[in-house]
Amino acid sequence: TLPKIAWIGLGIMGSPMSENLVKAGYRVTGFTLEQEKLDRLSAAGGTAAGSIAEAVRDADVIVTMVPASPQVEAIAYGPDGILENARPGALLVDMSSITPQTSVDLAKAGKGKGLRVLDAPVSGGEAGAVEAVLSIMVGGEQADFDEARPLLEALGKTIVLCGPHGSGQTVKAANQLIVAVNIQACAEAVVFLEKSGVDLKAALDVLGGGLAGSTVLTRKKDNFLGRDFKPGFRIDLHHKDMGIVTDAARTVGAALPVGAVVAQLVASLRAQGDGGLDHSALLRAVERLSGD
Ligand code: NAD
Repeated sequence: TLPKIAWIGLGIMGSPMSENLVKAGYRVTGFTLEQEKLDRLSAAGGTAAGSIAEAVRDADVIVTMVPASPQVEAIAYGPDGILENARPGALLVDMSSITPQTSVDLAKAGKGKGLRVLDAPVSGGEAGAVEAVLSIMVGGEQADFDEARPLLEALGKTIVLCGPHGSGQTVKAANQLIVAVNIQACAEAVVFLEKSGVDLKAALDVLGGGLAGSTVLTRKKDNFLGRDFKPGFRIDLHHKDMGIVTDAARTVGAALPVGAVVAQLVASLRAQGDGGLDHSALLRAVERLSGD
Protein backbone atom coordinates (compact mmCIF):
# COMPACT_ATOMS: atom_id res chain seq x y z
CA THR A 1 0.00 0.00 0.00
CA LEU A 2 1.06 3.58 -0.60
CA PRO A 3 2.71 5.47 2.26
CA LYS A 4 0.50 7.68 4.40
CA ILE A 5 1.22 11.37 3.83
CA ALA A 6 1.13 14.39 6.14
CA TRP A 7 1.23 17.69 4.25
CA ILE A 8 2.05 20.94 6.08
CA GLY A 9 1.52 24.20 4.17
CA LEU A 10 -1.39 24.40 1.73
CA GLY A 11 -0.63 27.66 -0.07
CA ILE A 12 -0.42 28.56 -3.74
CA MET A 13 1.89 25.57 -4.28
CA GLY A 14 1.00 23.19 -1.47
CA SER A 15 -2.74 23.04 -2.26
CA PRO A 16 -2.48 21.80 -5.84
CA MET A 17 0.54 19.61 -5.04
CA SER A 18 -1.18 17.82 -2.17
CA GLU A 19 -4.28 17.40 -4.33
CA ASN A 20 -2.15 15.71 -6.98
CA LEU A 21 -1.08 13.17 -4.35
CA VAL A 22 -4.74 12.55 -3.47
CA LYS A 23 -5.46 12.02 -7.18
CA ALA A 24 -2.56 9.55 -7.36
CA GLY A 25 -4.23 7.49 -4.61
CA TYR A 26 -2.30 8.64 -1.52
CA ARG A 27 -4.04 9.23 1.79
CA VAL A 28 -3.14 12.82 2.64
CA THR A 29 -3.71 14.54 5.97
CA GLY A 30 -2.99 18.26 5.82
CA PHE A 31 -2.45 21.20 8.11
CA THR A 32 -2.10 24.88 7.25
CA LEU A 33 -3.04 28.23 8.79
CA GLU A 34 -6.05 29.09 6.58
CA GLN A 35 -9.32 27.22 7.24
CA GLU A 36 -10.44 27.70 3.65
CA LYS A 37 -7.38 25.77 2.42
CA LEU A 38 -8.12 22.96 4.86
CA ASP A 39 -11.68 22.83 3.54
CA ARG A 40 -10.33 22.71 0.01
CA LEU A 41 -8.16 19.67 0.86
CA SER A 42 -11.15 17.90 2.44
CA ALA A 43 -13.26 18.64 -0.62
CA ALA A 44 -10.51 17.15 -2.80
CA GLY A 45 -10.57 13.90 -0.84
CA GLY A 46 -7.87 14.55 1.76
CA THR A 47 -8.21 14.92 5.51
CA ALA A 48 -7.86 18.19 7.42
CA ALA A 49 -5.95 18.00 10.71
CA GLY A 50 -6.32 20.39 13.64
CA SER A 51 -2.60 20.68 14.30
CA ILE A 52 0.81 19.71 12.98
CA ALA A 53 1.07 17.06 15.70
CA GLU A 54 -2.21 15.48 14.62
CA ALA A 55 -1.23 15.56 10.95
CA VAL A 56 2.18 13.93 11.36
CA ARG A 57 1.54 11.42 14.15
CA ASP A 58 1.06 8.30 12.04
CA ALA A 59 2.45 9.55 8.72
CA ASP A 60 5.07 7.59 6.77
CA VAL A 61 6.08 10.65 4.77
CA ILE A 62 5.78 14.27 5.93
CA VAL A 63 5.90 16.98 3.28
CA THR A 64 6.37 20.64 4.18
CA MET A 65 5.68 23.53 1.77
CA VAL A 66 5.81 26.81 3.72
CA PRO A 67 7.25 30.24 2.89
CA ALA A 68 10.77 30.38 4.33
CA SER A 69 13.35 29.15 6.86
CA PRO A 70 11.64 30.62 9.97
CA GLN A 71 8.38 28.78 9.18
CA VAL A 72 10.23 25.52 8.48
CA GLU A 73 12.03 25.89 11.81
CA ALA A 74 8.78 26.67 13.64
CA ILE A 75 6.92 23.66 12.25
CA ALA A 76 9.89 21.35 12.69
CA TYR A 77 11.19 22.35 16.13
CA GLY A 78 8.12 23.78 17.89
CA PRO A 79 6.48 21.91 20.77
CA ASP A 80 3.58 20.99 18.47
CA GLY A 81 6.10 20.35 15.72
CA ILE A 82 7.28 17.56 13.48
CA LEU A 83 10.35 16.40 15.40
CA GLU A 84 8.41 15.99 18.64
CA ASN A 85 5.46 14.23 17.08
CA ALA A 86 6.49 12.24 14.00
CA ARG A 87 7.04 8.54 14.35
CA PRO A 88 10.69 7.47 14.16
CA GLY A 89 11.56 6.15 10.73
CA ALA A 90 9.31 8.62 8.93
CA LEU A 91 10.68 10.49 5.93
CA LEU A 92 10.51 14.31 6.05
CA VAL A 93 10.54 15.96 2.61
CA ASP A 94 10.83 19.74 2.86
CA MET A 95 9.82 21.28 -0.46
CA SER A 96 9.97 24.92 0.70
CA SER A 97 12.70 27.18 -0.70
CA ILE A 98 14.94 27.95 2.28
CA THR A 99 18.62 28.50 3.06
CA PRO A 100 20.84 25.47 2.39
CA GLN A 101 22.15 25.71 5.95
CA THR A 102 18.63 25.38 7.39
CA SER A 103 18.23 22.15 5.40
CA VAL A 104 21.59 20.81 6.61
CA ASP A 105 20.65 21.61 10.22
CA LEU A 106 17.18 20.08 9.82
CA ALA A 107 18.65 16.84 8.45
CA LYS A 108 20.96 16.61 11.44
CA ALA A 109 18.24 17.40 14.00
CA GLY A 110 15.86 14.97 12.28
CA LYS A 111 18.45 12.21 12.41
CA GLY A 112 18.67 12.73 16.15
CA LYS A 113 14.97 11.88 16.33
CA GLY A 114 15.18 8.92 13.95
CA LEU A 115 13.76 10.87 10.99
CA ARG A 116 15.21 10.83 7.50
CA VAL A 117 15.17 14.22 5.76
CA LEU A 118 15.34 15.41 2.16
CA ASP A 119 15.40 18.99 0.87
CA ALA A 120 13.30 19.00 -2.29
CA PRO A 121 12.50 22.54 -3.45
CA VAL A 122 10.69 22.96 -6.74
CA SER A 123 10.53 25.15 -9.81
CA GLY A 124 7.68 25.57 -12.26
CA GLY A 125 5.34 27.93 -10.46
CA GLU A 126 1.67 27.54 -9.73
CA ALA A 127 1.02 26.18 -13.23
CA GLY A 128 3.74 23.57 -12.78
CA ALA A 129 2.22 22.56 -9.46
CA VAL A 130 -1.31 22.27 -10.88
CA GLU A 131 -0.14 20.29 -13.92
CA ALA A 132 2.29 18.12 -11.87
CA VAL A 133 5.23 19.03 -14.10
CA LEU A 134 7.50 20.66 -11.52
CA SER A 135 11.28 20.40 -11.59
CA ILE A 136 12.28 18.99 -8.22
CA MET A 137 15.85 19.46 -6.98
CA VAL A 138 16.70 17.15 -4.15
CA GLY A 139 19.43 17.03 -1.51
CA GLY A 140 20.02 14.07 0.78
CA GLU A 141 20.76 10.34 0.80
CA GLN A 142 20.32 8.18 -2.30
CA ALA A 143 18.19 5.57 -0.48
CA ASP A 144 15.77 8.22 0.81
CA PHE A 145 15.60 9.79 -2.64
CA ASP A 146 14.76 6.39 -4.15
CA GLU A 147 12.00 5.95 -1.58
CA ALA A 148 10.56 9.42 -2.23
CA ARG A 149 10.76 9.19 -6.00
CA PRO A 150 7.33 7.63 -6.74
CA LEU A 151 5.67 10.32 -4.64
CA LEU A 152 7.71 13.09 -6.28
CA GLU A 153 6.72 11.69 -9.67
CA ALA A 154 3.11 12.48 -8.82
CA LEU A 155 4.15 16.14 -8.40
CA GLY A 156 6.76 16.78 -11.05
CA LYS A 157 8.43 15.74 -14.24
CA THR A 158 12.15 16.46 -13.80
CA ILE A 159 13.34 14.97 -10.51
CA VAL A 160 17.05 15.02 -9.74
CA LEU A 161 19.18 14.15 -6.71
CA CYS A 162 21.71 17.00 -6.72
CA GLY A 163 23.94 15.88 -3.84
CA PRO A 164 24.01 15.79 -0.04
CA HIS A 165 21.63 17.66 2.30
CA GLY A 166 21.27 21.31 1.27
CA SER A 167 22.22 20.69 -2.37
CA GLY A 168 18.62 20.91 -3.53
CA GLN A 169 18.40 24.35 -1.91
CA THR A 170 21.66 25.49 -3.49
CA VAL A 171 20.34 24.51 -6.93
CA LYS A 172 17.01 26.22 -6.18
CA ALA A 173 18.91 29.39 -5.21
CA ALA A 174 20.61 29.31 -8.63
CA ASN A 175 17.18 28.78 -10.20
CA GLN A 176 15.85 31.90 -8.51
CA LEU A 177 18.85 33.92 -9.67
CA ILE A 178 18.24 32.86 -13.28
CA VAL A 179 14.50 33.52 -13.08
CA ALA A 180 14.89 36.98 -11.54
CA VAL A 181 17.50 38.11 -14.05
CA ASN A 182 15.41 36.69 -16.89
CA ILE A 183 12.24 38.50 -15.73
CA GLN A 184 14.24 41.70 -15.38
CA ALA A 185 15.58 41.36 -18.94
CA CYS A 186 12.06 40.72 -20.25
CA ALA A 187 10.70 43.72 -18.31
CA GLU A 188 13.38 45.99 -19.76
CA ALA A 189 12.57 44.72 -23.25
CA VAL A 190 8.84 45.32 -22.70
CA VAL A 191 9.33 48.94 -21.62
CA PHE A 192 11.77 49.54 -24.49
CA LEU A 193 9.34 48.03 -27.02
CA GLU A 194 6.35 49.98 -25.72
CA LYS A 195 8.19 53.29 -25.76
CA SER A 196 9.29 52.47 -29.31
CA GLY A 197 5.66 52.08 -30.37
CA VAL A 198 5.99 48.47 -31.49
CA ASP A 199 3.02 46.07 -31.14
CA LEU A 200 3.98 44.37 -27.90
CA LYS A 201 2.08 41.13 -28.40
CA ALA A 202 3.55 40.61 -31.86
CA ALA A 203 7.01 41.40 -30.53
CA LEU A 204 6.75 38.95 -27.62
CA ASP A 205 5.37 36.24 -29.91
CA VAL A 206 8.31 36.43 -32.29
CA LEU A 207 10.87 36.85 -29.50
CA GLY A 208 9.49 33.73 -27.85
CA GLY A 209 10.35 31.66 -30.91
CA GLY A 210 13.99 32.71 -31.08
CA LEU A 211 17.03 32.52 -28.83
CA ALA A 212 15.43 35.13 -26.55
CA GLY A 213 12.60 32.70 -25.87
CA SER A 214 12.37 31.26 -22.37
CA THR A 215 9.92 29.65 -20.00
CA VAL A 216 9.84 32.98 -18.17
CA LEU A 217 8.92 34.89 -21.33
CA THR A 218 6.23 32.36 -22.29
CA ARG A 219 4.72 32.08 -18.82
CA LYS A 220 4.87 35.78 -17.95
CA LYS A 221 3.81 37.16 -21.33
CA ASP A 222 0.17 37.59 -20.32
CA ASN A 223 1.22 39.24 -17.05
CA PHE A 224 3.24 41.79 -19.02
CA LEU A 225 0.59 42.32 -21.72
CA GLY A 226 -2.32 42.62 -19.28
CA ARG A 227 -0.45 44.39 -16.45
CA ASP A 228 -1.75 41.46 -14.40
CA PHE A 229 0.41 41.11 -11.32
CA LYS A 230 -1.76 38.75 -9.31
CA PRO A 231 0.57 36.08 -7.83
CA GLY A 232 1.83 33.49 -8.94
CA PHE A 233 5.07 33.97 -7.16
CA ARG A 234 5.13 36.89 -4.77
CA ILE A 235 7.84 39.55 -4.80
CA ASP A 236 8.19 38.93 -1.03
CA LEU A 237 9.21 35.32 -1.71
CA HIS A 238 11.60 36.27 -4.49
CA HIS A 239 13.14 38.87 -2.17
CA LYS A 240 13.73 36.04 0.31
CA ASP A 241 15.32 33.92 -2.43
CA MET A 242 17.60 36.72 -3.67
CA GLY A 243 18.82 37.02 -0.08
CA ILE A 244 19.51 33.28 0.01
CA VAL A 245 21.46 33.23 -3.26
CA THR A 246 23.38 36.42 -2.43
CA ASP A 247 24.48 35.05 0.96
CA ALA A 248 25.32 31.61 -0.40
CA ALA A 249 27.34 33.09 -3.28
CA ARG A 250 29.27 35.37 -0.94
CA THR A 251 30.10 32.38 1.25
CA VAL A 252 31.71 30.50 -1.64
CA GLY A 253 33.21 33.59 -3.28
CA ALA A 254 31.06 33.60 -6.44
CA ALA A 255 30.40 37.01 -7.98
CA LEU A 256 26.77 37.87 -8.84
CA PRO A 257 27.08 41.40 -10.25
CA VAL A 258 23.85 41.38 -12.23
CA GLY A 259 22.00 39.29 -9.66
CA ALA A 260 22.92 41.83 -6.99
CA VAL A 261 21.36 44.66 -9.00
CA VAL A 262 18.17 42.68 -9.62
CA ALA A 263 18.06 41.83 -5.91
CA GLN A 264 18.06 45.58 -5.22
CA LEU A 265 15.21 46.15 -7.66
CA VAL A 266 13.19 43.36 -6.03
CA ALA A 267 13.90 44.89 -2.61
CA SER A 268 12.85 48.30 -3.89
CA LEU A 269 9.51 47.01 -5.18
CA ARG A 270 8.89 45.46 -1.80
CA ALA A 271 9.80 48.68 -0.01
CA GLN A 272 7.26 50.49 -2.19
CA GLY A 273 4.48 48.19 -1.04
CA ASP A 274 4.47 45.78 -3.99
CA GLY A 275 5.66 42.71 -2.06
CA GLY A 276 2.33 40.94 -2.54
CA LEU A 277 2.45 41.22 -6.34
CA ASP A 278 3.74 38.58 -8.76
CA HIS A 279 7.46 38.85 -9.59
CA SER A 280 6.55 39.91 -13.13
CA ALA A 281 5.86 43.27 -11.40
CA LEU A 282 9.59 43.94 -11.93
CA LEU A 283 8.06 45.61 -14.98
CA ARG A 284 6.86 48.35 -12.60
CA ALA A 285 10.38 48.92 -11.32
CA VAL A 286 11.64 49.41 -14.88
CA GLU A 287 8.72 51.70 -15.72
CA ARG A 288 9.45 53.86 -12.69
CA LEU A 289 13.12 54.07 -13.64
CA SER A 290 11.95 55.06 -17.13
CA GLY A 291 9.84 57.91 -15.80
CA ASP A 292 6.47 56.21 -16.29
P1 NAD B 1 2.05 30.64 0.20
O1 NAD B 1 2.32 31.81 1.06
O2 NAD B 1 0.97 30.69 -0.82
O3 NAD B 1 1.73 29.36 1.13
C1 NAD B 1 2.42 29.08 2.31
C2 NAD B 1 1.55 28.21 3.18
O4 NAD B 1 2.31 27.88 4.37
C3 NAD B 1 0.27 28.91 3.67
O5 NAD B 1 -0.84 28.13 3.33
C4 NAD B 1 0.44 28.98 5.18
O6 NAD B 1 -0.75 28.70 5.88
C5 NAD B 1 1.43 27.86 5.45
N1 NAD B 1 2.13 28.07 6.71
C6 NAD B 1 2.94 29.10 7.06
N2 NAD B 1 3.36 28.96 8.33
C7 NAD B 1 2.78 27.81 8.78
C8 NAD B 1 2.81 27.14 10.03
N3 NAD B 1 3.52 27.61 11.06
N4 NAD B 1 2.11 25.99 10.15
C9 NAD B 1 1.40 25.50 9.11
N5 NAD B 1 1.32 26.10 7.90
C10 NAD B 1 2.01 27.25 7.76
O7 NAD B 1 3.45 30.26 -0.46
P2 NAD B 1 3.72 29.43 -1.82
O8 NAD B 1 3.72 30.38 -2.97
O9 NAD B 1 2.87 28.21 -1.84
O10 NAD B 1 5.26 29.02 -1.58
C11 NAD B 1 5.65 28.01 -0.68
C12 NAD B 1 7.14 27.75 -0.87
O11 NAD B 1 7.37 27.31 -2.22
C13 NAD B 1 8.03 28.99 -0.67
O12 NAD B 1 9.24 28.61 -0.06
C14 NAD B 1 8.25 29.46 -2.09
O13 NAD B 1 9.45 30.20 -2.20
C15 NAD B 1 8.29 28.16 -2.85
N6 NAD B 1 7.92 28.22 -4.26
C16 NAD B 1 6.83 28.95 -4.69
C17 NAD B 1 6.51 28.98 -6.03
C18 NAD B 1 5.35 29.79 -6.56
O14 NAD B 1 5.27 29.99 -7.78
N7 NAD B 1 4.44 30.27 -5.73
C19 NAD B 1 7.26 28.24 -6.95
C20 NAD B 1 8.32 27.47 -6.50
C21 NAD B 1 8.64 27.47 -5.15
